[in-house]
Amino acid sequence: MPDLLPDLWFDPTKCFIAGQWISPSGGGTLPLENPSDGSVIGEIARGTAADIDAAVGAAREALSGEWGRMPAAERGRLLAAIGRKVAERVDDLAAIEAQDVGKPLKQARADAVALARYLEFYGGAADKIHGETIPYLDGYTVYTLREPHGVTAHIIPWNYPMQIIGRSVGAALTMGNAAVLKPAEEACLTALAFAAIAEEAGLPKGALNVVPGLGEEAGAALSGHAGINHISFTGSVGVGSLIQASAAANVVPVTLELGGKSPQLFFEDADLDKALPFLVNAGIQNAGQTCSASSRILVHRSRFDEVRDAMAARYAALRVGPAADDLDVGPLISAGQKEIVEGFLGMASAGEIAARGEIVADAPAGGHYVAPTLIAGVGADHRLAQDEIFGPAQVMIPFADEDEAVAIANGTQYGLVAGVWTENGGRQMRLAKAIHSGQVFINNYGAGGGVELPFGGVGKSGHGREKGFEALYGFSTLKTVAAHHG
Ligand code: NAP
Ligand code: MG
Repeated sequence: MPDLLPDLWFDPTKCFIAGQWISPSGGGTLPLENPSDGSVIGEIARGTAADIDAAVGAAREALSGEWGRMPAAERGRLLAAIGRKVAERVDDLAAIEAQDVGKPLKQARADAVALARYLEFYGGAADKIHGETIPYLDGYTVYTLREPHGVTAHIIPWNYPMQIIGRSVGAALTMGNAAVLKPAEEACLTALAFAAIAEEAGLPKGALNVVPGLGEEAGAALSGHAGINHISFTGSVGVGSLIQASAAANVVPVTLELGGKSPQLFFEDADLDKALPFLVNAGIQNAGQTCSASSRILVHRSRFDEVRDAMAARYAALRVGPAADDLDVGPLISAGQKEIVEGFLGMASAGEIAARGEIVADAPAGGHYVAPTLIAGVGADHRLAQDEIFGPAQVMIPFADEDEAVAIANGTQYGLVAGVWTENGGRQMRLAKAIHSGQVFINNYGAGGGVELPFGGVGKSGHGREKGFEALYGFSTLKTVAAHHG
């Protein structure tokens, strides 16, 4: 893996505000850690409330300038051009992300490819969203206009920065909003890299502003800022609830993309060869640090032992190591996250652990490695089967029939994604309706994939939809114009 950090094409100790790279007010920095070995590899800007204020001001100004006046088709062309520049730099972006967040290179590369694809998709959509005419009283013409909210705030987590920038900032810019992005403290580099690429492609000043920093400092200042018109938040339930309270104080709409405990349901007639890679990969992708990870595997009793043994064999072959080695699983993001995950795994007794993967012998001692763990034997109400672990672990639970499968699937506070494995067409349709979640996959499972597919949660997984065309409605507001002409 090329060590790109000395040659970055942007300065990570700066914020990007009004098209300028500026030091944070107060001049603070935060350490940049490589999770693969725990070493400090640089510094990033510690943006403050004053920087957020400047960024919101710059975004507001952009709305009345070149950006605000830009026709939709031109906006779309510009987004597509940014997407092409991202595509040209996929390897660089992947190398940066791998060093910053510990993703195995292949997985980091997939995120960069997805970012380029979001920009391609939304670039093409920019001039295809429009209002309607509405039949009304005699002598009237009534129509609707789709307009940007104005200044949109984007607060994102560390697990998939590039993908989330694509779906959130990409959709907001498509609709003509001006964005202020606060990336996670532990994963700022690709957000800044993206800003630099957008600048190079000619994005007008202030249309996108990036302020790295701490959640309780820069993040809270952004979500509570009276000058923003919409908040898109992706992260934990606890912080999401704080964000919604800030949004309420300013009476602005908010999209919350929160956690999950997403199930895959494997029925007696399902094809195990087809399902097996999805059953396992959806749990260990990105070391399980995926909102839509499938962390619960529900299996019909008649097939339970067979599926457990097949999954256990896969688990035993999983290898964990530094991002540069590009193995199945990389390190977790931080020592703190490792401690949380190990705390959860400690709740399983030895007899309940069906299999574990292997941390390679030469993995650096300072890296935040956790061996993937398959748990079979805890009940559906156990904390391991209820709480989001956010690490490489899956819990297997048997069910007797369809009703019980649905009850277990719906029996957590979350509802983000579900997978259903059955050849029975009627059952496929019934379950697609009966399962409470934002997405249901039938005989496949898409953790994170599919830029075209609207995505979001029910229950504590959040509300509002990103991805696909649906996001464009969320990142715009509707105005009704009624003209009386007699
Ligand atoms: P988090 O702790 O909630 O942080 C998310 C973002 O919020 C970060 O940028 C964080 O900044 C910021 N933040 C923290 N405290 C804040 C505050 N008081 N005010 C404003 N902003 C604040 O979440 P995480 O641990 O990074 O991410 C993991 C969680 O995200 C999991 O629950 C996962 O399921 C969820 N997630 C959901 C989706 C989805 O689409 N549904 C996608 C990915 C992840 P700092 O980190 O710099 O403090
Ligand atoms: Mg890092």
